[in-house]
Amino acid sequence: MKIIISVLTFFMMLFGITIGANNFDTISGYKKAVKSVDLYENTMETAMPQTEIYNFISDYFKEKSAESKKIKKAIVLGYDGCRADALSLIDSQHSSAIKALTDEGGKCVLTYCGGKNLPAFNTQDTSTAPGWCTMLTGKWADVTGVTGNGIPKSNNNLTLLTTLVEDEIISSSAFCVSWGGHFSDSDSTYINEKEYCQSKNLSVAFDKSDDDEGTKKVVTDYVNSKDCPDFIFSIFEYCDHCGHSTGFNLKNPDYTGAFFDAEKTASEIINDIKARDTFENEEWLIIITSDHGGYNLAHGMFTPQERYIFTVTKKY
Ligand SMILES: [Zn+2]
Repeated sequence: MKIIISVLTFFMMLFGITIGANNFDTISGYKKAVKSVDLYENTMETAMPQTEIYNFISDYFKEKSAESKKIKKAIVLGYDGCRADALSLIDSQHSSAIKALTDEGGKCVLTYCGGKNLPAFNTQDTSTAPGWCTMLTGKWADVTGVTGNGIPKSNNNLTLLTTLVEDEIISSSAFCVSWGGHFSDSDSTYINEKEYCQSKNLSVAFDKSDDDEGTKKVVTDYVNSKDCPDFIFSIFEYCDHCGHSTGFNLKNPDYTGAFFDAEKTASEIINDIKARDTFENEEWLIIITSDHGGYNLAHGMFTPQERYIFTVTKKY
């Protein structure tokens, strides 16, 4: 069945046929949009593997602070289901957290999910669980076993949220989401790890909200508190939800609107971080990234639209 869908999707993609969205979404159009993004420091051919995001965060916390008295903090603001070409939408009319970070010296790199870069076929689904799990463990699904959604990960490969706390590199971490598939449902990805943390009394918070507004509130409350966790990993569903209902496509105004919603939320959170009373005594690593892109009304497959994402990193 999967092969039939793959072949069908391939031909639809080739001829720019889309379901649910009125506009064509061809590979050539997609590539043109990605190339038009001046912020990218690399190309599709030299795209960074998603595993590197783990290394950024891990190295950051393990390196001695430039000014050793400063407390290190990090936050990941995840735009679930945001395609790499969405960055071509950034303009002066909308608030953009991505632009704000790059304007201040942050780096923006094209990144691939799915285990392998094109032209090779992907070795794991371009889906939510494999995407975020790869970032959080630094390993592809051939090691973690998380090849798709609905597969509880064993505790042989713990996430940075847990290991950084367990190894006493940081004091606390928080995982802030609204999708039940992360750690709330019975077959969720991190259900075993959540139990592990609770049984060991580790200071790792697993915060499940009802929706993006809820996640935003949890994260905002954290960054506005004195006891803000040292590492926050947050995921917002704006783009993914919209893509599934009306189409992952830049010509779909709902999808582009969802991107700007994510940008607005991230901008507000970053502004709150910068306004912390203790900001001057802290060092911050801020990362904005995505787990996968999308094509038509879905993702999980092999198209460039699904496989390229972006990673923006900025240290303060
Ligand atoms: Zn996703």
